[in-house]
Amino acid sequence: MSYQAVIIGAGLSGAVMAERMASQLGWKVLVLEQRDHIGGNCFDEYDAHGILVHRYGPHLFHTDKPEVWEYLSRFTQWHPYEHRVLSRIDGQLVPIPFNLTSIERCFPADKANAMIAALLARFGEGARVPILELRKESEPLLGELAEFIYLKAFVNYTSKQWGVPPEQISPEVTARVPVVVSRDDRYFTDPYQGVPLYGYTKMIEAILDHPNIDLQLGMPMSSRVSLDWEKKGIILDGHVFSGPVIYTGMIDSLIPDNHIPLPYRSLRFEHKHFEQAHFQPVTTVNYPNEEQFTRITEFKHLTGQVKPDTSIVIEYPCDYLPEYGLEPYYPVLQDSTINRYLRYKQTLEEIKNLCLLGRLAEYKYFDMDDIVANSLAKFKIFDRG
Ligand SMILES: Cc1cc2nc3c(=O)[nH]c(=O)nc-3n(C[C@H](O)[C@H](O)[C@H](O)COP(=O)(O)OP(=O)(O)OC[C@H]3O[C@@H](n4cnc5c(N)ncnc54)[C@H](O)[C@@H]3O)c2cc1C
Repeated sequence: MSYQAVIIGAGLSGAVMAERMASQLGWKVLVLEQRDHIGGNCFDEYDAHGILVHRYGPHLFHTDKPEVWEYLSRFTQWHPYEHRVLSRIDGQLVPIPFNLTSIERCFPADKANAMIAALLARFGEGARVPILELRKESEPLLGELAEFIYLKAFVNYTSKQWGVPPEQISPEVTARVPVVVSRDDRYFTDPYQGVPLYGYTKMIEAILDHPNIDLQLGMPMSSRVSLDWEKKGIILDGHVFSGPVIYTGMIDSLIPDNHIPLPYRSLRFEHKHFEQAHFQPVTTVNYPNEEQFTRITEFKHLTGQVKPDTSIVIEYPCDYLPEYGLEPYYPVLQDSTINRYLRYKQTLEEIKNLCLLGRLAEYKYFDMDDIVANSLAKFKIFDRG
């Protein structure tokens, strides 16, 4: 079969692009995926106990973009879900972001009441005040609250997440972390929130379900596609391919030999099952301080699945070491790595029909809604009709 476009990777980025090209342009599209499943890191599956779990860590969908919600809603119905997170601080479970309930749980009643009164007087009911801003307040109680949240909820968590000593974490990391001046305990405030009713894999399966899309699993790019650096072209099955090739894998693995890899943080996931109805009161509990892991997620809270038993996942942050079977999850964005990325991008721009798309190819953390918006926007390059 001859194809008008080739897409490397059947994650959300590749799936949305393939669907647009197939349905809007009538193109025959070849999608090559090296894993034995679609969905990239959004992949979910039923575990050995029949519980729907997220293999690569919990995925919560939330967006303020009506066009993204509308687009995905063509391929799935939604289970309404608003994410709630508790954090284990000094042996207690407190809502995150910190709200009035959290303050009451962490401080003696007199002090908590005084802090709440100071917050209400200064910012008003319902405000969301960044901790960094709170630190600058002249009222000592507000400064004490900001310091407490920074030390107990964030600095060690961030240190574990990025593998950096706590003393090297700047208070600037809390620049956007809010204290909520109300009892609102939702983690996200976006107007559209939910999880696909039958899971992410089913949703992405529906996106890819088009007669013009030819999907091949267990097929790394290198088995069919290569870059011809001399002629600045792309070879598919031994022949020059002049249509667009959309690449959603790691950008540095396309760079010829002797390149310095781009660094990533990774996660080791420990999936566990318990013969009890529930493990914890909400979907996610953060462990900012004593433990080596950062958080535990219990899937049934998220999916609404009804079962007498339950499955959880524990997340241990670590460096990305491919030789240990780890995955590249979070780009480590520093001036030097961003510059390296830009150099690699410039090198690849010599190959005119290669398009870099998604979190690995663009070396950027994207939430799922941004990934969909990004693919829809990049599709416009090809949609000249
Ligand atoms: C732990 C974790 C939790 C997250 N939680 C959330 C959340 O709660 N909410 C949210 O909105 N977002 C979340 N995200 C972000 C979300 O996972 C991404 O936005 C999304 O998966 C990116 O899609 P993608 O297609 O760009 O990349 P990927 O999902 O990585 O897909 C890329 C695909 O390309 C394939 N591929 C790569 N190289 C090749 C090759 N050479 N040949 C063939 N195939 C190849 C890969 O196997 C993969 O399937 C989370 C991310 C992580 C890491």
